[in-house]
Amino acid sequence: MKIDHEICIGCEECIAYCTMGVISIQDGLAHIDHDECVECGVCLKLKVCPLEAIYQDELRFPRIIRSSFSNPEMPHARTKRHGRGTEEMKTNDVTNRFKEGEIGLCIEVGRPGIGTRLRDVEKISMALAQAGILLEEDNPIYDHVEDLLTGKLKEEVLGEKVLSAIVEVKEKPEIIALALDGLKELSSTLETVITLSVICKVREDESIPDYDKLNKLGYTTNGHAKVNIGLGRISDKGEGIA
Ligand code: SF4
Ligand code: SF4
Repeated sequence: MKIDHEICIGCEECIAYCTMGVISIQDGLAHIDHDECVECGVCLKLKVCPLEAIYQDELRFPRIIRSSFSNPEMPHARTKRHGRGTEEMKTNDVTNRFKEGEIGLCIEVGRPGIGTRLRDVEKISMALAQAGILLEEDNPIYDHVEDLLTGKLKEEVLGEKVLSAIVEVKEKPEIIALALDGLKELSSTLETVITLSVICKVREDESIPDYDKLNKLGYTTNGHAKVNIGLGRISDKGEGIA
């Protein structure tokens, strides 16, 4: 995103709307910190500039990755999907993606205001690979992987900054516990925040056996249920909710 300094009058209107807080006034004009801007498009979409001095410059690879993760209106190049992750666990009623005997792990890396470099997402994918969990093809991070077996991302994308990225995987409880051990170890090396959720199938009698298995492996869980109505894509004919 750029600001036309021939038009800008430094009125400061745009500053409060930046999701990353990277617009500032210097020498009486608004400036965007290009390296920290995640190309979310919010400042442009909201038409906050009364003089229309804010404009979208052409985004090329690798910078265009920023907008496909941060701007919900920009699809990812290969999957043509919008957003930061693969498949919402909240739509499991429709997709039945998470089945009994396996636990889903959803790791959201970065938040508005702090964002994340893909360098930190790489640390997550490498920790998962160490536990034997490979990134799924549908996940937008998959396209930026150099080596699937180690979880290493391509060198040229590591410095790209996005609002957040979501890595979702599923595995047996024992493997998920291994991955959680690895994530705990690396968490102090991250330059951003992560939000971690585990997803388990709920039986009709409301028991959650996979939660119990995870608890026995030393991880306590704090149950919440969320359901999105009508937003899922059918991928399985199974029944039940997660
Ligand atoms: S595109 Fe997003 S991050 Fe960049 S200046 Fe605009 S609001 Fe801020
Ligand atoms: S709102 Fe427009 S004119 Fe005002 S500081 Fe921002 S870019 Fe400049």
